[in-house]
Amino acid sequence: MIKKLNKKLKNQEITPKTLFNEAVEKAKQQAKTNNCFVTILEEFKQQESNSWLNGIPYSLKDNISTKGILTTSSSNILHDYIPPYDATVYRKLKKAGAVLMGKVALDELAMGGTGTTAHTGIISNPYDQTRIVGGSSAGGVASVALGITPFSIGSDTGDSIRKPAAYTGLVGFKPTYGRISRYGLFPFASSLDHVGCITTCVEDAALVTDVIKGECEYDMTSLADDNELYAEKITESVKNKKLFYIKEIVTDYDYDSETKEVLKQFQDVLKKCEELGITVHEESIEMELLQAVYPAYLAISCAEATSNNANLLGVGFGLREEGGTIEEMMFKTRTAGFSELIKRRFVLGSYILQKENQEKLFLNAGRVRRLIVEKINQLFEKYDGFILPATGGVAPKIDDISNKIEEKKMILENNLIIGNFGGYPSITIPSGKINNLPIGINITTAVQKDALALNIAYQLEQALKGGDKNV
Ligand code: GLN
Repeated sequence: MIKKLNKKLKNQEITPKTLFNEAVEKAKQQAKTNNCFVTILEEFKQQESNSWLNGIPYSLKDNISTKGILTTSSSNILHDYIPPYDATVYRKLKKAGAVLMGKVALDELAMGGTGTTAHTGIISNPYDQTRIVGGSSAGGVASVALGITPFSIGSDTGDSIRKPAAYTGLVGFKPTYGRISRYGLFPFASSLDHVGCITTCVEDAALVTDVIKGECEYDMTSLADDNELYAEKITESVKNKKLFYIKEIVTDYDYDSETKEVLKQFQDVLKKCEELGITVHEESIEMELLQAVYPAYLAISCAEATSNNANLLGVGFGLREEGGTIEEMMFKTRTAGFSELIKRRFVLGSYILQKENQEKLFLNAGRVRRLIVEKINQLFEKYDGFILPATGGVAPKIDDISNKIEEKKMILENNLIIGNFGGYPSITIPSGKINNLPIGINITTAVQKDALALNIAYQLEQALKGGDKNV
């Protein structure tokens, strides 16, 4: 899609300004029924370049700093916060000539996965308004799924780009940890946070990543640039590549018909892989370890989030409630500023970080993380990557989100977290539909094998499109 637009721009069939105005108009139109934007920008501003992204409008998750532009992280506590500096990813996109047209809503402070906790309202799924769009990069996927922008930039700590992408028939990619600078991204859980993109196809994910990746002097976790152009490598042959899937995650534990269908369609995808010359193998990981992944994620992410967000006190910036003493002021500010989910997670995080609980909860969670990463790294010595369903079903109904997921299904529903534990490049692509609602599959490769993840995803995307016009 981006290359096509780029061609039109080059041939002067359209101008960047018209594209921007069209996106803004569509966004305003959609804003009547969909809360995906926190801010729609009015003024067209562009620095020209000869990159593929020159003149292409996009949206940016509202937890990414933009100098002089409201950046709320979809939280009441930051409802009027205007950052004094630009995030590196935004600066790189500006330099490439891409045109920011709006800041998109998220689950408050990027925690959660439903798109229902932003202070600006629930973001529904464009395929069915009664369903969630997923999160936390909810507004971003909605802006792409609604055809407002060809791409959006999000963040992914547990699955926040890849899972909502699956619920909306889009591509969601987070590269290797450190590949894209996080300078200017509001931290959620620093050891797991990634910046990534949401696009309509794998080629666009490669084009966008080529622009935003690279070492950054302001982010000490950023990696030295690999000096590869991913978009140039996606079309390479994937013949003789080897993938595995984790048997325990795709076993049918007497699931409902929807999840059975996810697993059935997953088998069809594996057949497509074989047609491409990729061999797919079954591997096994102890159930105990797999079942510990989500609790370990919660422990690590809540602890890190509690510490990272300790600055939201009403002192330096953001909302401030009055109080007789400074403690009372902070207490009232945090009570008024955060939603229930955030408060629950901070209580959990504070508990986990208490001296007497650290060894049992925080450090043990770290051990679980290390065990699963060591296991996967061993498997990566034999394989190019692994493939799994991105979700256990289609986007849930908004009314059903507080329903508890059965324990066995948790390992399927939360498998994308493995990608964050290991900092692996991980990409979700659409794989089909169930009752006209999209589902996706995910491919994850070893660290630094970003080009390979995109390459396999691209070839599979082409094969799936060829065989099923529904994809
Ligand atoms: N859904 C996960 C959570 O609740 C992931 C969020 C994310 O990746 N930002 O924390």
